[in-house]
Amino acid sequence: MAELSEFDSSLHRTALAQLDLAAARLQLEPNVHQVLRLPRRALVVSIPVRMDDGNTKVFLGYRVHHSTVLGPTKGGLRYDLGVNLGETTALAMLMTWKCALMGLPYGGAKGGVRCNPRELSKQELEHLTRRYTTEIILLIGPDLDIPAPDLGTDEQVMAWMMDTYSMTQGKSVPGVVTGKPLIVGGSAGRREATGRGLVYALYQAARRLGQDLRGRKVVVQGFGNVGSVAARLLWRDDTVIAGISDVKGGIWNPHGIDIRQLEAHIAEAGGVGGFPGADPVSNAELLERPCDILIPAAVGGQIREDNADRIKATIVAEGANGPTTPEADVILRDRGVTVIPDIVANAGGVVVSYFEWVQGLQYYFWRESEIVSRLQEVMTRAFNRVWALGAKEGTDLRTAALMEGIRRVAEGYRVRGLYP
Ligand code: NAD
Repeated sequence: MAELSEFDSSLHRTALAQLDLAAARLQLEPNVHQVLRLPRRALVVSIPVRMDDGNTKVFLGYRVHHSTVLGPTKGGLRYDLGVNLGETTALAMLMTWKCALMGLPYGGAKGGVRCNPRELSKQELEHLTRRYTTEIILLIGPDLDIPAPDLGTDEQVMAWMMDTYSMTQGKSVPGVVTGKPLIVGGSAGRREATGRGLVYALYQAARRLGQDLRGRKVVVQGFGNVGSVAARLLWRDDTVIAGISDVKGGIWNPHGIDIRQLEAHIAEAGGVGGFPGADPVSNAELLERPCDILIPAAVGGQIREDNADRIKATIVAEGANGPTTPEADVILRDRGVTVIPDIVANAGGVVVSYFEWVQGLQYYFWRESEIVSRLQEVMTRAFNRVWALGAKEGTDLRTAALMEGIRRVAEGYRVRGLYP
């Protein structure tokens, strides 16, 4: 296999190990397997930004296209100090499998800038975003590569990206990004899509396992776009949200946290810390607290060989990308824990991004109820396909999901053939 040291990072090792495992089960043709292990293209850019104090600071940015076999590429943009080439490449690869599995006409991409967005002023963030967009402009476009929000980025960042791209084209191009504000062509239901999709997948898992979610104890790591929506929906459905965390730490109340009160607290305090209705707990400890459902919805590599045997949940629904290492996967599987893998559990975001892209290309917008019911249908169908394949092949859900996604990409590759 080709030398991959350029991309070395823990998430990339995880993504490759997952691909290799699924490829072995699929008896994937070695020539195709070799191609799928590498990204199609990867761009590294430097981003000089004039800071508010008058000095210039240079940031590193990336955009990686993993595969273009099934269509233009699609994937989020991450602002985080952990961003590097290997992580971005791994996340692009996961996007390829996710889009294929969900039946979307996309290949996978990912972008990122190594920065702490919480330490940047609004003006610095805007300059960073516009310069990054300019540096990667050759790689993006509505029929080429369509970024979306991810960790540390939001609707505002997408609006700046769309505006920067549109200025270079001399016209408005809404289809170049998804996750935009509604007023400039965003889609109803996009902001909630990932958390909502996760809840739909969780309901299907519970149904298959013969469980009722009401009254079950839930722990959510990360209270951002994904975690907060999942927590709010599950709380409304009468589950007990016993633990929640953000980057600074967590809170715990085995009798349940009132999400409305927590949101009011966050609006004042800026984070979950100090919430009067719960006790403080570290992020690491929170994962191991007694609960039925664990939703890691922050960063990768949280459930590892060194803590997997202390996870008490019987269902893990992966809101984050790559929260479980391959070693931990084996431990959880042997202990009978059902893991709803990232490429299923958090696919709601890219599904509604696809709806947004289609609406933007047609200049025709759908009602929120239509988006929600189509999302539910796509998530339910995908989950049940993965469940059935897992049962047929005798594998866990992750291996089944990867097998289905990879099989579709390999089939696309086979019919298109190798250029030239
Ligand atoms: P976000 O920036 O809105 O929120 C992230 C949350 O995680 C925040 O509460 C933050 O404080 C917390 N956090 C950050 N670093 C942490 C750390 N080291 N330990 C504990 N908590 C930490 O991000 P998001 O959009 O909710 O994304 C969260 C995860 O979900 C990421 O892994 C992302 O790739 C994945 N995801 C997001 C989407 C989407 O549509 N936004 C779609 C698919 C997958």
